[in-house]
Amino acid sequence: MSRTCIYKITIEIENFGESELTDVFAIFALHASMPIRKQFYFLPVAAIVALFAVQSSAKATWISLAKHDGIPLVGRKRHGVHTGVAKRPGVQLTKKQVVFVSRFGEYLRSMGESAVVTSGARSPEHQLSIIKTRVKELGVARKFPELRHAVAGRPSTWLRAWEFLRARHVPVYAPNSAGGEASASNHIKGLAVDFISGSLDHLAALVRSFSASRLAMLSPLRVVSIAREPGCVHVNLRG
Ligand SMILES: [Zn+2]
Repeated sequence: MSRTCIYKITIEIENFGESELTDVFAIFALHASMPIRKQFYFLPVAAIVALFAVQSSAKATWISLAKHDGIPLVGRKRHGVHTGVAKRPGVQLTKKQVVFVSRFGEYLRSMGESAVVTSGARSPEHQLSIIKTRVKELGVARKFPELRHAVAGRPSTWLRAWEFLRARHVPVYAPNSAGGEASASNHIKGLAVDFISGSLDHLAALVRSFSASRLAMLSPLRVVSIAREPGCVHVNLRG
């Protein structure tokens, strides 16, 4: 294998943190552009690189997130904000979700109301951790030994537990699509936001009136449905 070739592979490996599927295509484009003899040596390396890139992209960049969203943070001790919107530390949002949340914040301020975002964009792993937490809370972890080493991309490791929760009306979405009712959470697609406030019923009504307001028209995401869940108001969105 030539020195240039090794160098190019090293570059690809160093870029893993940022890698997306486009990198995989780039690797194979590089492979296709080589003379046949070199392609023979390069193929196993390209396959390994591609495998790592796909795994890495699923972990690190399952969706493009806003780096600085400018939404004020509020800790768990303080339940709300004065007026407008704030978010819990650690909540991640896509750029479109940021605009939606900001416009809703403007609307709340104009009404003298407030809300806190408790969840925006979730990775498949995060969604899986919610299933694990709910199973533990119900004290049934021993029924699902496969859950201990579960992987979001392998439904056989979490589907039984998810179905168990659904049968008990625990509102939890799947970390991945697995056929039937097991469709991936809208949070994973960046198309759902959870809010809390002093009164969830009142908050759900505020989201509904916001969705018909002029401010909502300035958001790239529209409200599709509002679910009043036990601990939050879950808002499904459409791009
Ligand atoms: Zn939700």
